[in-house]
Amino acid sequence: MNILVINAGSSSLKYQLLDPISGVLLAKGLCERIGIDGKFTYKADGKQTLDAVDIPMPTHSEAIQAVLDALVDKDNGVIASMSEIGAVGHRVVHGGEAFNKSVLIDGEVLKAIEDCIPLAPLHNPANLTGIRACQKVMPGVPMAAVFDTAFHQTMPPQAYMYALPYAWYENDKVRRYGFHGTSHKYVAGRAAAMLNKKPEELKIISCHLGNGSSITAVEGGKSVDTSMGFTPLAGVPMGTRSGDLDAGILQYVMNKYGMSIDEILSTLNKKSGVEGLSCVSSDFRDLESAAEKGNQKAALAQEKFAYEVKKYVGAYAAAMGGVDALVFTAGVGENDKAVRAMVCQGLEYMGVKLDPAANDVRGKETVLSAAGSKVKVLLIPTNEELMIAMDTAELVKQ
Ligand code: ADP
Repeated sequence: MNILVINAGSSSLKYQLLDPISGVLLAKGLCERIGIDGKFTYKADGKQTLDAVDIPMPTHSEAIQAVLDALVDKDNGVIASMSEIGAVGHRVVHGGEAFNKSVLIDGEVLKAIEDCIPLAPLHNPANLTGIRACQKVMPGVPMAAVFDTAFHQTMPPQAYMYALPYAWYENDKVRRYGFHGTSHKYVAGRAAAMLNKKPEELKIISCHLGNGSSITAVEGGKSVDTSMGFTPLAGVPMGTRSGDLDAGILQYVMNKYGMSIDEILSTLNKKSGVEGLSCVSSDFRDLESAAEKGNQKAALAQEKFAYEVKKYVGAYAAAMGGVDALVFTAGVGENDKAVRAMVCQGLEYMGVKLDPAANDVRGKETVLSAAGSKVKVLLIPTNEELMIAMDTAELVKQ
């Protein structure tokens, strides 16, 4: 059975058609400028690639229809008919406290996703639009919702509560939710498989380091703490996001420059992080080449990033009372050996021993630690779409 994985944004929609058992990717692509003029991209092994081709897409329904037409196209398609799509898995950003796992979508689920809109005002409405469009174009095909937040719902209260007035939690749902859950769940599962252990036996620290970054403590296969919070602004510094900061800075800077709360939050989300600090770029490749040419702010941004990641590793080892595996994933984690080395440097005392030769690698599942390293250091390319497809297939089977 193939699973169609959909990640819908407000004017775009990413898709993949996967076999969840073999993990084979049959086709993938992107619909862009939905509601404007419509651009369609399609890639499948051995087939002609379509690159930003004009296809009218007044709404998400036409976008989904374009995806289906391409998948079953008699020359360029990868399946003979729509009946070869067993189910659709939708990425949904926020499931609040309502969802601690992926679910099959029905009326009640749609309502609960709607209820989470205040927690993710940009993302959940777009995800809902994608689901509704799919239901219209593919009636009768089972659909699942896979949430970015669900994996973290196992956190204990001391991890998810903020030390704020309790009523803010009780009345307003202010708490740590965490994000990137699908990625952390996937790499934690792969880590257990690589180490030939059951997830229940392991304490894992998963470092999803990309444009957005989060660190998660996974104990016995369950998330017990994570660095992102009520929003994805919290935790380590990111490409353009500040990560954790002293809230007192907001009042000081807002008063000094007459900034509104929206202006300051836009700066914290879009002009901070390694880009803000380096004055160079949010991309770690640019930081690296600038640092090599002697740019000290670029070097500082790299060091600051690695230092904060390392601090979370230490904190989560303390939270779990030890760690068996440290996992690097996502754009930076999978590709940037210098950052990985900086994170691991100085952690020898807790049993982390990186093998520099093994660390000279990019984007493949492999062990980075030296033989005899008490803590295994692993590189595991993330695959959120495959995780969504696997969860969806599991739900359909039940
Ligand atoms: P997103 O959070 O948008 O999904 P990704 O996980 O795709 O981000 O990560 C994108 C980031 O990965 C880029 O901004 C860049 O900083 C980093 N990256 C990609 N390739 C490399 C590389 N070869 N070396 C260092 N960093 C890289």
